[in-house]
Amino acid sequence: MKKNMILIPKPHTTFILAQCSQCDEKKVVFSRTTADVYCKKCGAMLVKKTGSKAEILGKVINNLD
Ligand SMILES: [Zn+2]
Repeated sequence: MKKNMILIPKPHTTFILAQCSQCDEKKVVFSRTTADVYCKKCGAMLVKKTGSKAEILGKVINNLD
């Protein structure tokens, strides 16, 4: 069996369209943000910063890469 679907980490930053789970407000965020991102409408946390990759707390609508 040959594995053709190997996920290679991309060196550049990608954009993600995330939707707030509280109020459905959409926001484009960096996949590697260095700061927490909050929904501008209701203030819920959308993206939590981690050591390297951001953790999306809302719904990910699209990868804008
Ligand atoms: Zn919201």
